Amino acid sequence: MTVAYEPPRDLASKLGRRLTQWRAARPATLRFAQPMLSVCFDDFPASAALNGARILEARGARGTFFAAAGLAEQDGPCGRNFSAADLLRLAKVGHEIACHTYAHKDCARSETYEVLKDIAANRDALALMGASAPNTLAYPYGETTTALKNALPPRFSCARGVLPGLNIGRTDLAQLRAYPLFGVNAMDRAQASLKRAARMNAWMIAFTHDVETTPSLYGTSCNDLEAFLSAAQTMGFEIAPMNEVLGQRLP
Ligand SMILES: [Zn+2]
Repeated sequence: MTVAYEPPRDLASKLGRRLTQWRAARPATLRFAQPMLSVCFDDFPASAALNGARILEARGARGTFFAAAGLAEQDGPCGRNFSAADLLRLAKVGHEIACHTYAHKDCARSETYEVLKDIAANRDALALMGASAPNTLAYPYGETTTALKNALPPRFSCARGVLPGLNIGRTDLAQLRAYPLFGVNAMDRAQASLKRAARMNAWMIAFTHDVETTPSLYGTSCNDLEAFLSAAQTMGFEIAPMNEVLGQRLP
């Protein structure tokens, strides 16, 4: 998702957002044999590749890293962003390298064709860095439109937004729901959602940016991430990248 830019909050934008979320472009019915958790790192800062990955790996789990190639090795509000070396190491040990957009613009404020070109540019740039073709997408800032959802290239098996909710039963694979692991009371809300997901064998997706001892406003502390994963495993969650979870749907 997001840093240093706030999507517009005027009435028309809010109504557009509300309509978009209920217009399923890729309706699906999701069921799983056990509760599933995916942890996503957006943009993504080098600290996610280092600390976030290490904390997951220590538990035998892997994450989903949404790379915006235009931000690579740039300094941002969440610290220095990833490098090609980060991508290669993450992929090598089984993390999912997934697709944000190249320029990380608000997709709801751009022409659909321009967004599709930017997604393609990101895929090409990530391939040049050595990442294999990603098949999971996240909209920057969670912003999308019905037109964009309907135009998603078939290579993407799913796309993620930032609206909270559990993914179970009737679901839109073009706008999966996710909970932030940052912000006021976010960890309490995420823990409560984890408990609800455990009861329903649901797929919970959580997202953050940097992972540091003292994180940015958009990041998660190492201790909080560790406690969250510990709680999930105690409740019987399988923690896996988004593409792997989709592959474990029951018919
Ligand atoms: Zn982002």
